Amino acid sequence: MSVIFSGIQPTGRKHLGNYIGAIRQYVEGQDRGDPAIYCVVDQHAITVPYEPDVLRTSIYDLTALLIASGLDPDRCILFRQSDVPQHTELCWLLTGVTAIGELNRMHQFRDKSQAQRELVSAGLLFYPVLQAADVLAYRAHEVPVGEDQREHLELMRDVARRFNARFGKDVLVVPEHRIPAVGARIMDLQEPTRKMSTTGGTAEGTVLVLDEPKTIEKKLKRAVTDSGAEIVRGPEKPGVTNLIDILAVARGVSAEQVEADMASARGYGDLKAATAEAVIAMLAPVQERYAALRADEAALDGFLAQGAEKARAIASSTLADVRRVMGFGPASW
Ligand code: ATP
Ligand code: MG
Repeated sequence: MSVIFSGIQPTGRKHLGNYIGAIRQYVEGQDRGDPAIYCVVDQHAITVPYEPDVLRTSIYDLTALLIASGLDPDRCILFRQSDVPQHTELCWLLTGVTAIGELNRMHQFRDKSQAQRELVSAGLLFYPVLQAADVLAYRAHEVPVGEDQREHLELMRDVARRFNARFGKDVLVVPEHRIPAVGARIMDLQEPTRKMSTTGGTAEGTVLVLDEPKTIEKKLKRAVTDSGAEIVRGPEKPGVTNLIDILAVARGVSAEQVEADMASARGYGDLKAATAEAVIAMLAPVQERYAALRADEAALDGFLAQGAEKARAIASSTLADVRRVMGFGPASW
């Protein structure tokens, strides 16, 4: 059995890419993970401009959404990053074995720093170190993520290896990523060469998990495709490929199966309509459960507190080892 860990940001509202690339895998991991640990990474949210009041409510939004999607606080550890101070302590300790050149080269840093008008924060550069600490604090073996996190996972593996080489070979676990075969990179419907994103991307091209069925239909029907008519995947057909992938995941079949099913379709209109119908059906049960869960903030606080307590027990035991091998005294927390 492996320890599974993943984090998800409470910024903005969660979209179809997050649901397909990450959240569905979290739900599946619940039965395999020993334990499966999922973290609302609120401290990552401060690396780009944000509103404190919005952050506070987004944490509830996301917690309710994760539970509505199928996470069960009794079968996994679901908690908020800022409730477990060991993450930030380990982040600092790991900076000693992290190369600044590697951080500078991260694609996410390059893209997100270019998008900042006023301040490119040091936090944006150090984001992958905190992310490494999130995972390494639990000695996780497996990290379910979307394709965009591959580079950060590689960096985290380098950091763990360097730490072990310097301080003791079995202190940290070098984690593996788990990236889904289909749906690891859902693209923006209006700009299908860019990933669907919480902080970037277009509003029209981003399907939110909580969008009304009518809105989902409208966004999918207006998806940018190409001038051809063939419903097949290919590098020159990013929009159509994206719709085929989405439809495959929503129907629970392979992309090849979707291509075969669509062979007699009249054109892209049929593909878009079928995708809209399948996505609406996939999200309907999540939307139904969400409202009741979101209404009870006290219950959500209770779930997060319960998760934080379990998370702290694991992270503090890792930190005790890390502190010892690095030459610090025992923790007083
Ligand atoms: P941002 O664009 O601001 O980084 P985000 O949409 O990537 O936000 P995160 O909270 O950073 O949201 O990511 C949560 C999880 O969702 C990660 O595992 C990430 O790999 C996955 N993910 C994000 N976007 C997509 C996408 N377009 N397709 C598939 N998976 C995705
Ligand atoms: Mg992201």
